[in-house]
Amino acid sequence: MRSFDAIVIGAGQSGPFLAARMAEKGMKVALIERKYLGGTCVNAGCMPTKTLVASARAAYVARNAGGYGVSIVGKIGIDMAVVRKRALTVTLEARNGLISWFAGMDDVSVIYGHARFESERTIMVNGEQLTAPRIYINVGARPAIPDMPGIGDIEFLTSTSIIALDTLPRHLVVIGGSYIGLEFAQMYRRFGADVTVVERGPTLASREDDDISDAIADILRAEGIAIHTGAHRIAFKKRADGIEVAVADGIADITASHVLVATGRVPNTDDLGLDRAGVATDTRGYIIVDDKLATNIEGIWALGDCNGHGAFTHTSYNDFEIAAANLLDGEDRKLSDRILAYALYIDPPLGRVGMSEKQARASGREIMISTRPMTKVGRAKERGETKGFMKVIADAQTKQILGAAILGIEGDEAIHGFIDAMNARTTYRELKWAVPIHPTVSELIPTLLGDLKKV
Ligand SMILES: Cc1cc2nc3c(=O)[nH]c(=O)nc-3n(C[C@H](O)[C@H](O)[C@H](O)COP(=O)(O)OP(=O)(O)OC[C@H]3O[C@@H](n4cnc5c(N)ncnc54)[C@H](O)[C@@H]3O)c2cc1C
Repeated sequence: MRSFDAIVIGAGQSGPFLAARMAEKGMKVALIERKYLGGTCVNAGCMPTKTLVASARAAYVARNAGGYGVSIVGKIGIDMAVVRKRALTVTLEARNGLISWFAGMDDVSVIYGHARFESERTIMVNGEQLTAPRIYINVGARPAIPDMPGIGDIEFLTSTSIIALDTLPRHLVVIGGSYIGLEFAQMYRRFGADVTVVERGPTLASREDDDISDAIADILRAEGIAIHTGAHRIAFKKRADGIEVAVADGIADITASHVLVATGRVPNTDDLGLDRAGVATDTRGYIIVDDKLATNIEGIWALGDCNGHGAFTHTSYNDFEIAAANLLDGEDRKLSDRILAYALYIDPPLGRVGMSEKQARASGREIMISTRPMTKVGRAKERGETKGFMKVIADAQTKQILGAAILGIEGDEAIHGFIDAMNARTTYRELKWAVPIHPTVSELIPTLLGDLKKV
C-alpha cells in the first residue's frame, strides 16, 4: 500500500490546483484521473463549446456583413472538419499545459485510472491500494440520459459526443431547453442546420425570470430555430429517413437527422465506492458537504459539481480556493460566502449574478427593480446588435444589490460590474456615482441604478 499526505480523485477544475498547492507546501499528493487532465471544462465543456460558439458567430457575422456595408461575394460555407479541429486544438493546448505542469512537480504523482474507495482512508486504483489522511473528491458530473419512450432504440448525441461531430446535421433536435442545449441549438443553426428545441417545461431556461426566458426564445426564433415548450410526451421512433420525435399531444411530430439529449447532468458518484467509506449523498447522488466542503466522514471533502453547490468551472475553482485557504493558509473560508454568478453563452449572451426577480420577490424583502432595453444602449446601437435587456434588483431597505441580469451584447463581461459590487458588499448608491467609460455596455450600470423603483 502506498501512502500519501493527500489523495485527490478527479482532475477537474478543483483537484489539480489543490494538488499543486498542497505539493507547494511540501505535502506528497496522489492525483487520480480516469480520463483526461482538466476534466469537463477543458475536454468536453467550456473550452471546446466556447470555441465552437466563436466559429458559429463568425458565420453569423459573415452572413450579416451586408448590413454593415461589407460585401462578401459568393456563398458562405462551413467546413465542419476545420471547426471541430479548432475546438480540439484549444482543448489539447489546455490539456497538454496541465500535463507539462504536473510533469515538473515531483511531489504530485499523477495516476491514470478509475478510483474507488475501499474504506474511509483507502483508495483502490489499477489494482493498487493508496492511503492518505486527507481525501478530496473532485469527480464532476456527466450528461443525464432521461428515461423517455424509444430512447433505447435510437442513436443520440450528448454534449460530449456532439463536440466530436465533423459533419453538419440536416435537422438537429435538441431535447432540453436549458443552458447547454440552447448553446448548441444556436451554434448549429448558425452552422446551417435546421434546429428544433424541445423543452418539457413551460419556458426555456426556466430558472430565469419569465421576461428573460421570453427574450431568449425571441432571439432564437429570430434566427429560425423552432421551439416547443410544454412538451410533456417526448418519445422517439427510428425511421428510414431519420428519427421521429413525438413532442406532445396535438403537436406535429418532428423528423430529426440527429438528436442531442441535453436534459441535465448527474454526478459521477455512483461508481466511486462511497458506501464503503460511509460518505453520504443526497437522493440525486450529490455528495453532502458542510459550509467548508467537508463530507460526513472526517478527512474526506467533496469539491466541484459532485457536491451539488455549483455546476460551473468558476464554482469548482472557488471550491479549491476555499479548501486550500482553510487547509494551508489558516483562513476561515465558507461556501455560504459565495455569490452565484454565471453566463448563458448564446449570442448575445446572458450574464447573471445573485437573485432573479422571482427569487427576490419570494424572499419577502421590499425590493426595487430597474430595467433597460439594449435598444437604449449606445454601444449596442453602434454595433447593430440591440437584442435583449438589462435588469437589476436591489433591497429597498439595505440598498444592497440583490441580483442582476444582462441579456445583450457583452452581457457576460458587463455583468462583472454588478458581480464586483456585490462581492464588495457595497450598496447601489456608491455604484451610482461611478464614472464609466463611454461608449460601453457597462456605462449604463449607474443609469440603471439611478432608475431603481420600488415594486
Ligand atoms: C457542454 C458544456 C459546456 C459548459 N460550459 C461552461 C461554461 O461556459 N462555463 C462554466 O463555468 N462551466 C461550463 N460547464 C460546466 C463545467 O464544465 C463544469 O462545471 C466544470 O468542469 C467543473 O467540474 P468539476 O471540477 O466538478 O469536475 P470535472 O471538470 O467534471 O472533472 C471531473 C474529473 O473527474 C474524473 N473522474 C470521475 N470519476 C472518477 C473516478 N472514479 N476516478 C478517477 N477520476 C474520475 C473525470 O474523468 C473528470 O476528468 C459546461 C459543461 C458542459 C458539459
